[in-house]
Amino acid sequence: MEVEIICVGTELLLGEVLDTNSQYLAKILANYGFDHYYRSIVGDNEERLYQVIDTAFVRGAKLVILTGGLGPTQDDVTKEVAARYFKFPLFEDRAERTKIQMKYQSLGNEHMIESVYKQALFPNNCMILPNDNGTAPGCLMTRGNQHILVLPGPPHELVHMVEMYVCPLFEQWQETKIYSHVYHCFGLGESNMEAAVADIHLANTPVTIAPYANVGTSRIRMSVKAKTMQEAQHWIEFIGKQIYDRIGKYIFGENDETLIDKMMENHKGKRYGLIDCTNEAQLFWQLQSSVLAQVFCEQLAGSLVSLSDQLQERTLAGVVMKISRHFDLDGVLVFETEKSEYQHHVYSCRFYDSLGNELWNQSFQSLTPYDQQCERTITMVSGLFWQAQ
Ligand code: AMP
Ligand code: MG
Repeated sequence: MEVEIICVGTELLLGEVLDTNSQYLAKILANYGFDHYYRSIVGDNEERLYQVIDTAFVRGAKLVILTGGLGPTQDDVTKEVAARYFKFPLFEDRAERTKIQMKYQSLGNEHMIESVYKQALFPNNCMILPNDNGTAPGCLMTRGNQHILVLPGPPHELVHMVEMYVCPLFEQWQETKIYSHVYHCFGLGESNMEAAVADIHLANTPVTIAPYANVGTSRIRMSVKAKTMQEAQHWIEFIGKQIYDRIGKYIFGENDETLIDKMMENHKGKRYGLIDCTNEAQLFWQLQSSVLAQVFCEQLAGSLVSLSDQLQERTLAGVVMKISRHFDLDGVLVFETEKSEYQHHVYSCRFYDSLGNELWNQSFQSLTPYDQQCERTITMVSGLFWQAQ
């Protein structure tokens, strides 16, 4: 079913209020697998609103969702225009009139202004949707196989109404649902990922795939439109296996799994030391601000030269061994600055076991600006440990 969203409000066009309603509604529509190809914002203007509704139906919508413009004031015209579009006259609903009167009186309004009862006007045979968080009810008008759903503008009123009264309707209308599955990768950039999966043949399958880049990691999302979970799982396994064949060695997790959790899982109960010989000696602080601090529990500041002087050990292996014994560590991570330019640094990262054997050795680049650096350092260290396991 094709659905369009139209948000009504001059304040949205002026940029005074951010349109969050359509983002919320778009996610709901995606969950139910409805086709959502267009959305619009229109001011509080009867003729222009009429025109956008018409455009939506003419280009194929079966359901048009309108939000905003349901209040008691002159510029609130949404319900009136929707009813006029379907050529439905409006009548006052007695029960709604009483509810509105009670709501206003409970808010301390003794003298009712007649215009508030505009909110009790509805076409015959429409489905009235209660507004538990406000005064203006919503409604669903139906003419033949075309529907207009009218919802209030204030987000907390809209969200509640959708959850309580609209979602159950959508469940009945739902033909297919969109199911998604995500693979998270470390060590594979977005464009390399795209190139690696480019030859996967998606034609004649209901699957789409999309790569995304994060700070230090990347992910690929498979989406499937299907009638049942089993059908979706079939396609996700079918395409997922092909993705795995190409980039499996970079995949560290699926869906909600995170790199830092993977790292902590694999190194639970371990104690590592950290020798930070970088120019700024700030990598330690970056790691200390994360849960990785549980693993990297001993900081040894200063250069390797000064450490070897202090410990009277000439080799790095000797330094590591002594430190490991002293602090009862399972290993030591050593950071050094390899290259440093303005706001751009390359760090070398070496990991030794407690006997001083170098287990792995990798370089990574820092990123500007600084606030992203910390997240990147944590990701890179987690990723390098994950890779090396
Ligand atoms: P209205 O129903 O047009 O009187 O809108 C009432 C209030 O809801 C407005 O003042 C806005 O703050 C808010 N609102 C209306 N439309 C939206 C929207 N699309 N997204 C977020 N807030 C909105
Ligand atoms: Mg308005």
